[in-house]
Amino acid sequence: ALRPYVVGNWKMNGTRAMLAEARAIDRSAQRLMKVEVALAPPYTLIHAVHREAEQIGVGAQDCHPSADGAFTGDISAAMVADAGAKFVILGHSERREGHGETDALVRAKAEAALAAGLKLIVCCGESEQVRDEGRAERFVTAQLEASLPDEIDAADERLSVAYEPIWAIGTGRTPTVADIGAMHRAIRDLLVSRYGQDQGSAVRILYGGSVKPENARELLAADEVGGALVGGASLTAESFLGIVVAA
Ligand code: 13P
Repeated sequence: ALRPYVVGNWKMNGTRAMLAEARAIDRSAQRLMKVEVALAPPYTLIHAVHREAEQIGVGAQDCHPSADGAFTGDISAAMVADAGAKFVILGHSERREGHGETDALVRAKAEAALAAGLKLIVCCGESEQVRDEGRAERFVTAQLEASLPDEIDAADERLSVAYEPIWAIGTGRTPTVADIGAMHRAIRDLLVSRYGQDQGSAVRILYGGSVKPENARELLAADEVGGALVGGASLTAESFLGIVVAA
């Protein structure tokens, strides 16, 4: 089985003062080899975290679909790779909602990131309204289907998927273990039908949304959960390592 993958998404948090947290996470992760640990700091800290990190992976929270050009304020996949990133988070709900990112754009970014040699964490998740209307699984699988790259080589763990119900992000609310398991099984079925049995089975499906040290063990034990994508609780080494230990 693949090692559990626990990824911290710092979102728009962190100045150089927070490098001490990254260093502490890295030092402890060296003693926790059975878990793969990674951090996605803001662009401005990627290179600095990369220089601190001996054990953990460093990634970006987004990238532009083009390789270069006249796109003021944007950052390409090759640029984040050059700064030391090994992966990129794509299609986070905060990008989809706050920046109008469509499934097609997320897929274009995924292709650009693969071309730049990056690994991917492609995010999906439903709103509370969609959940209440009873069509969460249909919504999420359709969203993912349209957001994923055409081809992957799962043998080198190039692709992970993160299921993050929007109503669970930063709210302290989480789905039941049964609901997470059902959604992750639906995502697994999609991955297998899309990429074939071997490739589709090798993709880790992370859960994200209010993961904390206190609930990590229970949430990570849900069916088909291969790790966690952590926001708020990744901002201090203490709480993030509490999740890593539970994984
Ligand atoms: P929280 O862990 O703060 O709920 O955020 C989850 C998330 O969006 C990670 O990408």
